[in-house]
Amino acid sequence: MTVNSQPLLAVENLTRSFGSGKNPVLAVNNVNFQLEPGEIMAIVGESGSGKSTLARLILRLLPISSGKINFEGQTLTASDTRNYWRKVQAVFQDPFAAFNQFYSVRGVLTQAARLVVGLSSSEREKRMTDALISVGLDPIEMLDKTPYQLSGGQKQRVMIARALMLQPKLLIADEPTSMLDASLRVSILNLLKDLRDQYGMSILFITHDIGQAYYVSDRLLVMYQGELVEQGKTEEVIAQAKHPYTQRLMADVPKLHG
Ligand code: ADP
Ligand code: MG
Repeated sequence: MTVNSQPLLAVENLTRSFGSGKNPVLAVNNVNFQLEPGEIMAIVGESGSGKSTLARLILRLLPISSGKINFEGQTLTASDTRNYWRKVQAVFQDPFAAFNQFYSVRGVLTQAARLVVGLSSSEREKRMTDALISVGLDPIEMLDKTPYQLSGGQKQRVMIARALMLQPKLLIADEPTSMLDASLRVSILNLLKDLRDQYGMSILFITHDIGQAYYVSDRLLVMYQGELVEQGKTEEVIAQAKHPYTQRLMADVPKLHG
């Protein structure tokens, strides 16, 4: 990574409040950070600290109250979200939640393929096969399965494959392991690292678990009550946590293997 490369994502004074009157909730309060190409950045914070709101703002699923988001040097505007969603993909805590339970894996991946302009049906098939192989699933075995035939870990891998169909530059993973058995978590974290290495995409990995953040990330942001209270190289933040909240998080570092 070159030091003076243009950041992939630059978030400037980003703020989002909910409610009005005397006590609006500042879910995201004046947040600033940059994400470099090929970097894995973890955002860690307790429940309610504003992590998902930040993710939804970056994904343009939620309007910002103030501040701005630059992607590849351009300020995001309301137009052209389709093009943006080809480059920025997400996986969430509850895999398949957004899908009809009768959708097959093929259906889920085909739907993603529709966002790609000018893909022939044979190219689409190849992309599906490649995406499933990239996430460690057997395409022949998987394509016709429906969600209830899949384990939690397989479902999350299918969701990651769905994101890969678009060959995104940024993958936002919001608590992707929190519904998985502890024994499966490390394999998903390793998969994310492998995909970064293989495709050079950037990853924003959101978690309440500083142990997972430490395991997977190059840089670490700590959120507390909507604010970024700490950011830096993961090892440095962990070695010399400055904010009392980070120190508290570290005090009960959960073990990765549960
Ligand atoms: P996290 O993902 O870190 O658990 P969230 O971003 O979900 O945190 O929530 C941050 C704060 O914003 C919480 O106080 C939450 O109640 C509030 N919040 C989030 N979404 C909404 C919403 N749609 N309407 C009102 N308040 C919300
Ligand atoms: Mg959340």
